[in-house]
Amino acid sequence: MKLTNLQGAELINVLKSTMGSLWLITLESQEVEILQNVMIPELTGRVMDYKELIAIYLQEYVYPSDKEKWQACMSLSALKEMCQSACREKVFEMRFRNQSFGFEWHQAFLHVFEDESGKPDRILLSSRYINEFKRGEIIAKAVETEYDYVNYIDADTNSYVMYASNVQSGTPMPPITSNDYEMEVRTYNRIYVPAEQQEELTEKMMLANILPIIEEKGECIIYGNMLEDGVLKDKKMRYSYFDRENSILVMTRTDITEIKEEKRQKQLLQDALNAASAANKAKSEFLSRMSHDIRTPMNAIIGMTAIAGAHIEEQDRVADCLAKITSSSRLLLGLINEVLDMAKVESGNIVLAEEKIDMAGMTQSIINMIQPMIDRKKQFFEAHIEDVKDEMVIGDLQRLQQVLLNLLSNATKYTPEGGHILFEIKEKPSMQRGMGCYEFSVSDDGIGMTQDFLERIFEPFERADDEAIRSIPGTGLGMAISKNIVEMLDGTIQVESTYGKGSKFTATFCLRLQEQPEWNTASLAGLPILVVDDDEIVCVDVCERLEKMGMDGEYTLCGRDAVEKVVSAHYKGRDYFAVIIDLRMPGMDGIETTRRIRAQVGKEVPIIMISAYDWSEFEDEAVKAGVNDFIVKPLFQSRLVYKLNQLVSKQSEPISKGFNSLPQGEYGGKRILLAEDNALNREIATELLSAVNLDVEVAENGQIAVNMVQEKPEDYYDLIFMDMQMPVMDGCDAVRNIRGLNRKDVKRMPIIAMTANAFSDDVEKTKAAGMNEHLSKPIDMEVLSQTLAKWLL
Ligand code: ADP
Repeated sequence: MKLTNLQGAELINVLKSTMGSLWLITLESQEVEILQNVMIPELTGRVMDYKELIAIYLQEYVYPSDKEKWQACMSLSALKEMCQSACREKVFEMRFRNQSFGFEWHQAFLHVFEDESGKPDRILLSSRYINEFKRGEIIAKAVETEYDYVNYIDADTNSYVMYASNVQSGTPMPPITSNDYEMEVRTYNRIYVPAEQQEELTEKMMLANILPIIEEKGECIIYGNMLEDGVLKDKKMRYSYFDRENSILVMTRTDITEIKEEKRQKQLLQDALNAASAANKAKSEFLSRMSHDIRTPMNAIIGMTAIAGAHIEEQDRVADCLAKITSSSRLLLGLINEVLDMAKVESGNIVLAEEKIDMAGMTQSIINMIQPMIDRKKQFFEAHIEDVKDEMVIGDLQRLQQVLLNLLSNATKYTPEGGHILFEIKEKPSMQRGMGCYEFSVSDDGIGMTQDFLERIFEPFERADDEAIRSIPGTGLGMAISKNIVEMLDGTIQVESTYGKGSKFTATFCLRLQEQPEWNTASLAGLPILVVDDDEIVCVDVCERLEKMGMDGEYTLCGRDAVEKVVSAHYKGRDYFAVIIDLRMPGMDGIETTRRIRAQVGKEVPIIMISAYDWSEFEDEAVKAGVNDFIVKPLFQSRLVYKLNQLVSKQSEPISKGFNSLPQGEYGGKRILLAEDNALNREIATELLSAVNLDVEVAENGQIAVNMVQEKPEDYYDLIFMDMQMPVMDGCDAVRNIRGLNRKDVKRMPIIAMTANAFSDDVEKTKAAGMNEHLSKPIDMEVLSQTLAKWLL
C-alpha cells in the first residue's frame, strides 16, 4: 500500500499519537472540532464556537507575555487573513501557563485545507509540548558560554564528537569530530601549548593516564597553558564518565585565566597588605623606641643644663655637667644622622663621591673614632693587615668609613666589658686590572646572635629580641644602611655569629687603584730590626714586609726575650737599627721592656712603640721609659717606611699632643666673613674663630654676604665660611654670585662650607658651587685647626 493511499482517519490517528492537541476549524461555520486536547482533556470530542474557545484560552491558559502573539496567530481574523494570502502552513511557538514552573513551551502548526474548487475552507491546528527540547537548548547555550567545548569521547575506539563549543570566543578549537582523539591532542598541543609544557601536558591528556585516575577519583582534572592570539591562557580540562559501561567519557575544557588572574591579584593585594602591616608594625615599634632613645639624651641635656645653671659658681660641677651634656649631644646627633641617612638611602638619593683614599689614613681615623668606646668598656682591640700592597685607592671615603665604623661600633656595643675585638684588612687578588679587592672584617667575642635573627639583621628597624640588648641604645638602622651602602659600592657584606660566643662581619669592596707612591727604601737596605709582639701573625707579617724592603727583620714574642736579644746584640757590637715593640703584651709590657733595654744599653737603639690604641694615655710614661716614637697598628707599609726613614735621617716627628678642645693657631690680623643664619651657631663659630685671634664679620644670609664682599676693597676678607641653608639666598647661590663678581680677589678667596648638610652629595654640591672645602657641623676642632692652617698660613 502506498503512503498516499492512507485514509484521513488513519492520518488523524497517527497525528494524535505524536501531537498533544488537534483542532479542526471550519471557517464558514466558525466552529472547531476538538479531536484531542491535552491541556483541557474534557473538551476532547466536542464541537465548539471557535471564538469562544480562543477566548477561554486567552483568558485562562496563554502566558501573559504571549497574549498578543496568540491573537496574531490564532484569532479568527488572523486565520482568515492567512487563508486569503497564499500562505498554507505556519509554525510558531507559544508559552502557556504552568502551575509549577510559570510557563511551558508548545510548538503549534497551522495547516490550511481547500475544498474541491480550491477555496480554503478548513484549518487543522496541531500542537505539541516542547519543554524538554527547549531546556536542552538553554543548557547547550549555557554550556557554550561556560566551556570552550564539551567532548564526548569513546575511550574504546579513541574517537570523539564535540557537542558544544564556544565559537564566539575566538579560541582555537580541535576538529569537531575525529577517529583519533590522542592524535588530535598531540597536534593541537604542538601548535598551542608553550614548548616547555608540551610533552608533559600531552602525556597527561592521553587516555592511558586519564582512565585510571577517573576510575579512582571519579574525575580527572588537568591544568595547562595554551596560547590564544599570542596570549598565554590558563585552561582546565575535566574528564569524567558519561557512560561507564560503554567507556564513554565527557570532557570539558574551561578557560580559567580570569579566575587565576583574580586569585593572583587577590594574592598580590594580600601580600601588599601583609608587607604594609609588617612595615607599619616595624615603624611604630621603631617610633616608640626612637621616642625613648631621643628623650633619654634630651632629658640629660636639659637636666644637666639646669644643674649647671644652679651651680654656676662651682667650676668642677659645671665642667662635669658640660661633659655629660657633650656626650648626650653626641648620642643624639648620632641618632639623628642615622635616621636621616636611612631616609636618604631608602629614597635612593645618594650620590657616591669619587675621591682619593689613603687606606692607612682612613683606618687610622676609624680607629681614633672608635677608640673612646673601646676604652670605656675596657675591651681589647687588635688591628691586623694582611697583604695590603696598594694603599692608595679611589672611592667614597665617607661611605666606606660609615660602614666600617658601624661594624666596629656594633662590635664594642654588643661585647661586654673586657671583651676582644679584632679588625682585619686583607687585600685579595683582584680579577680586574686597575682595581684592588679589599676585605675588611670585624670579629668580637660578644653576645652573638641567633640564626633566626641573622636572617633579619639587614632589615630596617630590626634589633635582636634579646634581654641583653634592651639597655643598649640603638635604632636597628645601622646594618640596613650599611648593607645598602655596600651594595651601592658593588661590594658584599656577610655575617657569621654564634649566640653567646660572638660575631664576625666581613665586608668586601673593589676599589679603583690610584697610582701608588714609590717608597724610598734604598737607605734602609740591610738594616737589622727587632720586632717584639705577643701576636705572632703581626710579627711574621712585619718581618716579611721589612725583608721586602731589603731590611733584616727578626722577631720575638715576649719582652724578656727582647731585652736579652738587644743586650746581646749590643755587646756583640751589632746593635739593632731599631726595635719595634708592641705596647700591650702579657707579662712584661712594651713600656717595661723599653725601660729595661734603656737601663742596660742606654739611649743608643731607637725604640718605636706600636699600639692599636691612641697612645696619648701612655705617652708620658712611655717617653719617660725611653720610647723614641710611636706608630699605630695596623702597620701599613707606608707608615713603616716613613718612620724608619725618619730614623735614618734622625728626624723624629714631634709627638702628637692629642686633641685640644679649642682650635689651635695664631691668625692675628686675618679677617673672616662668616655667613650663618642661626644666631646660636653664629655665636659659637665667632667664639671659636676669635680664640685664634681671627677678626670675624658676620652675614645673616647669602645675599648680605655677597653685598659685604662687594662693598669691601679687594683682599679685605682672607677667608669665607659659608652655611648652605639660609633664607633669602642660600650658600651655594651666594658663592656662585661671589665668584662671579667682577674683581680679582674673589677668584682665589678660600670659601669653605660650614654646614649641617653633611651628606656626600651635599659635599658635591658645595664643590660644584665653587667652594674649596666642606666642614660639617658640629665642628670638629681638630679639623677646623687644620683647615685654618691650610688656607691662612
Ligand atoms: P642598632 O645597633 O642601632 O640596634 P644595627 O642595625 O647596627 O642597629 O644592628 C641591628 C641589630 O643587630 C642590633 O640591634 C643587634 O641586635 C644586632 N647586632 C649587630 N651587630 C652585632 C654584634 N657585633 N654582636 C651582636 N649583635 C649584633
